[in-house]
Amino acid sequence: MSKTLFEKIIDREIPGDIVHEDAHCVAFRDINPGAPMHILLVPRKPIPRLCDARADDQALLGHLMLTAAKIAADQGHGEAFRLVVNNGAGAGQSVFHLHLHLLGGRPLKWPPG
Ligand code: 5GP
Repeated sequence: MSKTLFEKIIDREIPGDIVHEDAHCVAFRDINPGAPMHILLVPRKPIPRLCDARADDQALLGHLMLTAAKIAADQGHGEAFRLVVNNGAGAGQSVFHLHLHLLGGRPLKWPPG
């Protein structure tokens, strides 16, 4: 199967502004940021959508959440940030490799659009 765009960034085949990586995930700045901090947190495992995750992905999903909070703190936004997962094209997902959007650095209104 061909690599997803995010696998290519993870594998350094195309450039990415990487802010964090560990054994399980890589985080890099969104190319079209919606906030001063807009980071994409991507598991190395190419799960297409959140709804494709399985019970044995539970620890990985928890790791993503905890890592997002740590990155937000490292970026100076540990007290006010938002995590978003777009699941499926109808919810705005355009890259079918699970990712968390980590947003912060400006007032974030609720509900989002
Ligand atoms: P989605 O719409 O799937 O939830 O989010 C995909 C995100 O990937 C979008 O916010 C989009 O701006 C970002 N994106 C698309 N292409 C690239 C790229 O080549 N590099 C980076 N860093 N982000 C990208």
